[in-house]
Amino acid sequence: MNQDARPSAPFNSSSSGETPLVVGLDLGGTKMAAALVDADGVLRGSVASCSTPAHDGPAAMLDSISALVQQVVTSGTREAPGLPVSVAAVGIGTAGVVDVEGGMILSATDAITGWAGTRIVAGVQERLAVAGLGVLPVHVENDVDAYAAGEAWLGAGAGAEVVLMVAVGTGVGGALVIEGRTRRGAHHVAGEIGHVPVPGAQGEPCTCGRPGHLEGITAGPQIHRRYLEKGGAPDVPDAREVEKRATAGDGIAQKVYRDSAVCLGRALAGLVTVIDPDVVVVSGGLARAGDLWWEPLRQTFAAEIIDPLAPIKIIPATLGTAAPIVGAARGALALAGSNDNHRP
Ligand SMILES: [Zn+2]
Repeated sequence: MNQDARPSAPFNSSSSGETPLVVGLDLGGTKMAAALVDADGVLRGSVASCSTPAHDGPAAMLDSISALVQQVVTSGTREAPGLPVSVAAVGIGTAGVVDVEGGMILSATDAITGWAGTRIVAGVQERLAVAGLGVLPVHVENDVDAYAAGEAWLGAGAGAEVVLMVAVGTGVGGALVIEGRTRRGAHHVAGEIGHVPVPGAQGEPCTCGRPGHLEGITAGPQIHRRYLEKGGAPDVPDAREVEKRATAGDGIAQKVYRDSAVCLGRALAGLVTVIDPDVVVVSGGLARAGDLWWEPLRQTFAAEIIDPLAPIKIIPATLGTAAPIVGAARGALALAGSNDNHRP
């Protein structure tokens, strides 16, 4: 995604000590990135990043998160000499199912070893306090939820009342944002579109262990797996290369790409009929694919949807890698604005 998609402003005289600044942090399986964000959602200063110690255990993860937050605060001070960089809260978007109120990871895949059960808010608060930043409010949410919150606030969904967000990349995730609030549901998984059973995906293995789900046919690794299973060139390493082959006329590559898009179009038609959003925003690696993927997606959606819902647009996300940082920051701003400064 475009690293520069989100305007990043240098510090200036308007960035006074009274401007609430928060740290937004996007925690992925291979990399984490963070930046100072102001109350308007504008990134202040540069984005700092580091690799994720995904298999070194939760303590190492919390150490790295806290170190990156400190780095962002320190570099903010350096970029604005003479101006106090006072951070009001920290917002984190992370892989996994998150108990937002409890500040902990409920479940997670093997992408981050031992992440399930981690009390992320308490762990980060402790470390930041030891580092001299005081007891900061810390907000944590699922990374796709953070992404959706960013896009709904200032990106492709800006101004819309109901935004259905779908992320299609290594997996398939989603989130539902209504009037600026991400709806997490009764079991913290609202919007998890990847595990919707969808016609066309019958028999395809899904990462959750149950066959026939959308993710089993639509996600990038599944496109690659199906390409190889159907007799595609064995030296093709990933879905991106399958896309290149499809563009170059490889029939098997074209079919598995089309299957991915058609199944997503069907699933979206079903979800949209229940939710009736203003807009559907698509992010992730597949959203960067060309007409090869977008055309069958839109055609299938148009063919399945009832007339009153036909005007609903399916559009790509616009904030790029800044979206989850901005979205996590929004959660932090909300927390900083409340008196709930000492959540467990
Ligand atoms: Zn599944």
